[in-house]
Amino acid sequence: GHARPMIDRGKGIYLYDVDGKKYIDGSGGPLVVNVGHGREEIIAAMQEQLEAAAYVHAIMFTSQPLESYAAKLADIVPLTHPRFFFLNSGSEVVEGAIKLARQIQMARGEHGRQIVICRSLSYHGMTLGALGVSGRPGLRSPYLGMLHNMPHIRHPYPYRFPADGEELADRLEESILAYGPENVAAFIAEPISGASLGAAEPPDDYWWRIRHICNKYGVLLIADEVLVGMGRTGKWWALQHWDVAADIIVTSKGLASGYFPLGFIAAKGADVDQIRAALGDFNHGGTFSHHAVGAAAGMATLRILQEEKLVDNAARVGAYLGEKLIKSLGRHPNVGDIRGRGLFWGIEFVADRVSADPFPASQQIAWRLWQRAFDSGLIVYYSQGCADGLNGDIIMLGPPLIINREQVDDMVDILTSAVHAELSG
Ligand code: PLP
Repeated sequence: GHARPMIDRGKGIYLYDVDGKKYIDGSGGPLVVNVGHGREEIIAAMQEQLEAAAYVHAIMFTSQPLESYAAKLADIVPLTHPRFFFLNSGSEVVEGAIKLARQIQMARGEHGRQIVICRSLSYHGMTLGALGVSGRPGLRSPYLGMLHNMPHIRHPYPYRFPADGEELADRLEESILAYGPENVAAFIAEPISGASLGAAEPPDDYWWRIRHICNKYGVLLIADEVLVGMGRTGKWWALQHWDVAADIIVTSKGLASGYFPLGFIAAKGADVDQIRAALGDFNHGGTFSHHAVGAAAGMATLRILQEEKLVDNAARVGAYLGEKLIKSLGRHPNVGDIRGRGLFWGIEFVADRVSADPFPASQQIAWRLWQRAFDSGLIVYYSQGCADGLNGDIIMLGPPLIINREQVDDMVDILTSAVHAELSG
């Protein structure tokens, strides 16, 4: 535990607490605040809908923001005639995507397909279903007996486990064959690893091969773009860096930039039509799904991303951030790896650069670095356990996509000082 300063207000990439201390929101919370704090346009759009009708149940009504938002999203979501199911968190959209995959398979007459294959160090959410397809030992261990025992294959992690991309992807084929293709509904993965492995990317031939294997065995590919979607990595969707298409896409975190808890599941129109024809509607729903105020917030966020060309900004300023990190920290004896894309970067800290041995978890290096940066007015995101599920320290940066070069300089300067103060090498 630690003291939590009381926040007063936020503007752009900055937050101010009640004592007047200024923070750079260098991670947008946990990669949420994509268009910055205090955006009047989003507040106005939400207020307009709040005044019109704050809440209607999605079973009974649709709303203008919801219809226009879905139409606008269809332009940027790389699925044929996409349909959307709006929910309120990453965990919820992952749960929903798993159930949707099951229903798509049932509608195809594939009633045996109930297994969802996933990866060993991964995070898909806090609820029991999403945790069941996640692979963080620390988060799972108290509940192991309550989780569905879904197969986990090795995660791509070039820094610690250099491997050929196709070879890594072939683990999926082995797993499908071991469980029987007739029993496997889907494979779920983060296109670029988020919190568990701090922006680790697979080798370039990995995703192509995964797509091929999914096609070969009729397994649906669920791309968990909760963290990396909506422009964060310099393209709308992280999987687009490899020109690979998913069957189901889920996203949340930055979707409404934190102004509303919003997420969606997107699927191909043909798959949704097939469910409707074979089974009736998708068997899923919740009190706050398809929220009109959430749609207004999402729509206003999307408009800002497009009008201000923030996905391009993420690519350009993100490349600059990467260079700057490498220049400032690349030679530090405790920096093992600096990796990332767009405005999502991870720095992995090690006890020894040559052996890549991690610090023992008990030293809480990532947490200490986070605290040091926080005290110095920079908010970063941290994670522990990348090396083996327990040890291994990562600091992540994921600032609002509106950030400019001068602000990147400030951010990296504070982080560099924090690293030097905490780790003398
Ligand atoms: N999927 C990924 C890739 C995530 O990074 C997260 C959140 O950390 C989730 C799912 C779960 O999202 P939420 O915390 O909004 O439930």
